[in-house]
Amino acid sequence: MDNKFYITTAIDYTNDTIHVGHIYQKVIADTLARYHRLLGEKVYFLTGTDEHGGKVEKSAKTAGFEGKEKEFVNQIAKADEAEQKSINVSFDRFIRTTDDDHVKFCLEFWEKVEKSGDIYTAEYDGIYCEGCEAFLNKSDLKDGKCPFHPNLEPKIIKEKNYFFRWSKYTDFLKNHILTHPEFIWPESRRNEMLSFINQGIQDIPISRTTIKFGIPVPNDPTQTIYVWFDALINYLTGDPGGFWPADIHILGKDNTRWHALLWPAMLKSAGYELPKTILVNGFLTLNGQKISKSSGNIIKTSELVKKFGADAVRYYLLKSKPIGTDGDISLEKIKEGYNADLANGLGNLVARVAKLCENSGFDFQETKLEFDSSWENHLEAFYLNEALEETWAHVNENNKRINESKWWKLSGTELQTALRSGVDSIRKIAFHLQPFMPDTAGKILSQFKGPKIKSSAPLFPRI
Ligand SMILES: [Zn+2]
Repeated sequence: MDNKFYITTAIDYTNDTIHVGHIYQKVIADTLARYHRLLGEKVYFLTGTDEHGGKVEKSAKTAGFEGKEKEFVNQIAKADEAEQKSINVSFDRFIRTTDDDHVKFCLEFWEKVEKSGDIYTAEYDGIYCEGCEAFLNKSDLKDGKCPFHPNLEPKIIKEKNYFFRWSKYTDFLKNHILTHPEFIWPESRRNEMLSFINQGIQDIPISRTTIKFGIPVPNDPTQTIYVWFDALINYLTGDPGGFWPADIHILGKDNTRWHALLWPAMLKSAGYELPKTILVNGFLTLNGQKISKSSGNIIKTSELVKKFGADAVRYYLLKSKPIGTDGDISLEKIKEGYNADLANGLGNLVARVAKLCENSGFDFQETKLEFDSSWENHLEAFYLNEALEETWAHVNENNKRINESKWWKLSGTELQTALRSGVDSIRKIAFHLQPFMPDTAGKILSQFKGPKIKSSAPLFPRI
């Protein structure tokens, strides 16, 4: 398909409802999806939930849903979807790995890999992190613990499993990464993956005997398909037809290896093209602490949205840091940013110019708006924070111009000229805000439609 753009997010485990750390990634994906829609591309945006595996099985049991895991995950998936919608994530499909079409497709995929001679049985005797749902090498551990789950004791697992010949694809993966610099972003993650390959890729179990909540292995109901093998395939299940290969898979840094190395090997084995870009986002901490149930500092996005509004939270998350690095958020900082950049910055600019237009009877004809190339370059390079900074430089510059030339004291042609440039600037700012703050951009563009402009309620009342 020409002119298509297929973007996916990581799908979240249904052991618990997603928090603002997960939503950060969905908002990045949403901004890119909206940008590509505005470019006139055919966009398909997939997100969802990863519902099988030991971690989910255990949480269901703790919550009193032992043997009724599906009922448990139904609740979480519904809540996750609502969290995403609360902040206007415009996905085309919310896929669940318990969906019938996914289960069916996953089994077909397994059979393709089997036909390639890449599945065999053997005994696994090694380390497993239940937090990551991942088989780890000794070299992955830091002080004997998984670096992503320092409070969780890694398990020693000994079971007879089906294995995937991951090692067979070592040269293929290395060559692909070296010849496709755009394949893994940012570069630090690319280097990390190359160094993992250099340490030696080992075959990996792709089934589990002790996990019941999963997709049964074809022709062997005593085993279920390993949750990562199952989950990665969702990106192909979710293709509504003609969108594969994915243009962007976006995922958290703890998932890099599975997306950048395991998934491409699986795809090669089953005879599919590889995704174009693996975009890895850093983590957010809250007041300097990991956002987690055990730290007791979970913030639900829908609660933040109730307090600040969807666009204000989107703005803050995207402006807070470059996508690829880690960053820290706090309620105080969101509030400060809200009052400074939104209430006093953008909101004030729009209100002042609209008022002057209304009072002076100013009228104008709409002109066609286009994206600035420097702004587009930021988006194409995934520097969303810099694109927002560029837009805010225009906001600040316009507020400064109004203050310095005291527009409220102008009249006649002087006022008309000032307003003409002010209105043009505001329309341009709103146009560039569309992927980031869709509601606000829409409100401003319809208020500043011409020929007459009227005042309206403040966009961002001070908090
Ligand atoms: Zn872990």
